[in-house]
Amino acid sequence: AKGSSANGGLSSFPTIKSTHSLVAKHVTKEKWDKLHEHKTATSGFTLAKAIACAVEFDNQHCGIYAGDWDSYKDFSDVFDPIIQEYHGISADAKHTSDMDFSKITGNVNPDAPVHSTRIRVGRSIDGFGLSPGITKEQRLGVESLFKTASANFKDELAGTYYPLTGMDDTVRQQLVDDHFLFMSGDRNLTVAGMERDWPEGRGIFHNKDKTFLVWVNEEDQLRIISMEKGGDVLGVFKRLAGGIQAVGDSVKAESGKDFMLDEKYGYVHSCPTNLGTGMRASVHIDLPGWTAHGVDKLKARCEELSLQPRGTRGESGGQTGHTYDISNKHRLGYSEVQLVQTMIDGVNKLYEEDLELQKKQLEFPNIQSAHSLVAKHVTKEKWDKLCKHTTKTAGFTLAKAIACAVEFDNQHCGIYAGDWDSYKDFADVFDPIIQEYHGISADAKHTSDMDFSKITGNVNPDAPVHSTRIRVGRSIDGFGLSPGITKEQRLGVESLFKTASANFKDELAGTYYPLTGMDETVRQQLVDDHFLFMSGDRNLTVAGMERDWPEGRGIFHNKDKTFLVWVNEEDQLRIISMEKGGDVLGVFKRLAGGIQAVGDSVKAESGKDFMLDEKYGYVHSCPTNLGTGMRASVHIDLPGWTAHGVDKLKARCEELSLQPRGTRGESGGQTGHTYDISNKHRLGYSEVQLVQTMIDGVNTLYKEDLEL
Ligand code: ADP
Ligand code: ADP
Ligand code: MG
Repeated sequence: AKGSSANGGLSSFPTIKSTHSLVAKHVTKEKWDKLHEHKTATSGFTLAKAIACAVEFDNQHCGIYAGDWDSYKDFSDVFDPIIQEYHGISADAKHTSDMDFSKITGNVNPDAPVHSTRIRVGRSIDGFGLSPGITKEQRLGVESLFKTASANFKDELAGTYYPLTGMDDTVRQQLVDDHFLFMSGDRNLTVAGMERDWPEGRGIFHNKDKTFLVWVNEEDQLRIISMEKGGDVLGVFKRLAGGIQAVGDSVKAESGKDFMLDEKYGYVHSCPTNLGTGMRASVHIDLPGWTAHGVDKLKARCEELSLQPRGTRGESGGQTGHTYDISNKHRLGYSEVQLVQTMIDGVNKLYEEDLELQKKQLEFPNIQSAHSLVAKHVTKEKWDKLCKHTTKTAGFTLAKAIACAVEFDNQHCGIYAGDWDSYKDFADVFDPIIQEYHGISADAKHTSDMDFSKITGNVNPDAPVHSTRIRVGRSIDGFGLSPGITKEQRLGVESLFKTASANFKDELAGTYYPLTGMDETVRQQLVDDHFLFMSGDRNLTVAGMERDWPEGRGIFHNKDKTFLVWVNEEDQLRIISMEKGGDVLGVFKRLAGGIQAVGDSVKAESGKDFMLDEKYGYVHSCPTNLGTGMRASVHIDLPGWTAHGVDKLKARCEELSLQPRGTRGESGGQTGHTYDISNKHRLGYSEVQLVQTMIDGVNTLYKEDLEL
């Protein structure tokens, strides 16, 4: 924690960055002046500590935490109105819990594609602080009490407590990946004070089958969890009821202590949004129809059904694919039985609607990019013929292929392939688009040529070239292409490439760095230095290329970062040669050797070849990259052309078969007078021809720039 938030004794009224938060509304100067010097009895908590997140971040809705039960009472001038507004309850409302599962009607439809069900509640043991304020001694006290108590659990609930301290890291990561364990590093929890002394005093209890679990000293002292594969929400709720009872009874027997239970606010949690039941009952369910219809619309529909959608990697994790975490929205103002009933009913409704939406997807879409090649070539007739087809390798559809043209109004091309099959199965659409885009005839054939000895000359050494980069894309046969590739295939490409890359020799030798687990400052530095791709491009997202991000992605590079391979970005592999200065010929030579090494090594390890199509050359996910997939660029200063006008430079590049870009990547935009100048064509010319065109064109632009 930084700034005033860390300084519990600071007396001046703080600047609350989350200006639209409930804290900003209800922590007035007057209340601050009255309360800011007070320290709670149990854990010495202050109002400054409570509102640290609202002060530090600009994106908080609520923005306040309690450090002990006292906080809710001592700072009630602040907490009461926030709690009432957040939960929509009146000042005199009282909470009643009800875990009587026999009152539940029905269950989630067994036909619904539910992967798993999980219900959790939070519980706090009286006499100890809550995570944001709990002292070190209290935290260890909670852990030791729970550990002793948990030894009494019987039958299905019996299990073992595993402290985080000393846990093997592969075991820990596996528990996280399998959705059983929390992890550290959440910025909210850190600023709220919940990661002090990490990982001491934290741990997880679970039974043999990992269907009954208790998290110790994460956001709450205890999170009691029941979960299992499939959609038997009622069964999971039953086990939870028994589990809560067992924890409560056993803690009471060992210590005489009860759970903190407030007359108005129910079970006490560190976050006021969890007050009441502290219950979140969720299913992980596939909703492909809703995904196609739009995630924003799904959110609005969930709101109507009193549900909350999340991504499946936890609250801060984000959405991937068409699987969602759907849970009850409310915690307070309803009993546990009511909330589970609402969840069951709502999930059944969403599933029914999803089937309808899937049907609707077969209707001819409204293509927003009205001037795109997709709009021209995806006629109603072709749509009706192809819309039901699913490709063999990646299960790709025409709807997925044209998602960008449908969703955005600014696409020139607007189509992607999800596997090599897509180009063949949807050839009625792809063929005319490819021919028109690249200006080739229907019977054209592609021939590659990487023989660098055929190049004449080089870029003028006097030209102010900062750096040179040439990349190609390559796809390994048998796996899908990024827009359609399955999770397993993506991991297969990564693992094959990783093994293959260990064979690279001499200048090409290097290391593969997966994106998962990469240190954030290292990652950002690689992006800033133009070596690494990043996520968040809206085209790539809508095209399906950011599913399961960042899993399976990574970057290989040699020691000098002159030879690099991007794994599972827009293409399975992007092979790159780059260096400072303008020695285009040298960069091309290294690239030729690099492509050869990747191809040979992949072949040796797997027997697989690069996808190479007779007509379309090397297969890429974007048809605009077909052929060579090569972009040879220099970053060059053109102050004369900048003064003369960027539009004129664009027109001149067109004449020279070049393409100008900004220097922050395709979607990045232009800054100053430095341009990324590259070959315009990919297909219809060999690699040697394209590099020659680039060298000659850059020399011409440089000469003209001096004149200008
Ligand atoms: P909480 O509200 O309990 O803090 P999070 O959204 O932070 O929940 O998720 C905690 C963990 O539980 C994550 O690993 C998440 O993937 C997992 N999880 C949540 N719901 C389910 C479910 N229905 N099935 C499987 N795992 C789940
Ligand atoms: P691509 O066509 O390979 O997808 P982008 O325009 O998206 O290329 O750029 C990818 C990254 O490569 C960006 O960080 C960009 O700045 C960098 N880059 C491109 N050309 C050069 C060059 N000649 N010198 C240095 N970096 C470059
Ligand atoms: Mg959480």
